[in-house]
Amino acid sequence: MVKDPAETAKIIELGEGFYVRQAVDNIAWIDLGEWVIVIDALEERSLEREVFQAIESTLPKRPIFYVLNTHTHYDHVALNEAFERRCGAKIVNLSNSQIEPEGRWFEGSHRRAQMLPLTGLHTNEDCVVWLPEDRVLFTGDLFGWGLIPTGRVTPDSAAQLEQTYQRMIEFDAATVVPGHGPICTTAELIRWVEYFRWLRDQVTARCQAGESDGQIRTALTPPADMADWWRFALWKHEDSVNKVLRSVRKG
Ligand SMILES: [Zn+2]
Repeated sequence: MVKDPAETAKIIELGEGFYVRQAVDNIAWIDLGEWVIVIDALEERSLEREVFQAIESTLPKRPIFYVLNTHTHYDHVALNEAFERRCGAKIVNLSNSQIEPEGRWFEGSHRRAQMLPLTGLHTNEDCVVWLPEDRVLFTGDLFGWGLIPTGRVTPDSAAQLEQTYQRMIEFDAATVVPGHGPICTTAELIRWVEYFRWLRDQVTARCQAGESDGQIRTALTPPADMADWWRFALWKHEDSVNKVLRSVRKG
């Protein structure tokens, strides 16, 4: 069996002064010039020492001004308090700050970051973070390696999903950092929307043709080119089939 790429934390350098600690939960620290922003703050408080050591060894003695949370689910905010306590960092997310629809810019002498609200799909407070100089996009949980980011698939949420993905794809990011698991590119965002449409079309047609849930689950195997997506064949594809089935059966 192939080893899970997120099982062991890995520090990836995406540019000068730009680091992502990739694991099941991802965190990034980025030098904008004379100061640093952090993106997302993990699930486990017990990682405090390890994370601060990693930051200090890669960006020694740089002040951390801001922690940007893509949203405030528990698995993105655990170290917020540690960043406040240790560095006096300001925590910025849509539950504690007002951010205009066109986004908020953080500008240093090396690079800029734009925090842009794309709400209403995963939660009502999701933001993506875009670093134009590096062409890196942080999606939070809007992209989940095959996971449908909304609890229920309805015509409204499907339309919302199309719109949200269009916005994310338009950045034409060279590197996409999801909230969880391996980093990827815009190609995966595009592929996933295609998959979502295909799944809805297939399930709808098969329900209309009178197939049972069991027949549909058996017929719809994970697409071959997505078989190695992170934890996709393991359970996410099945979860997506079930979500779409539930929504189609309800009408
Ligand atoms: Zn979430």
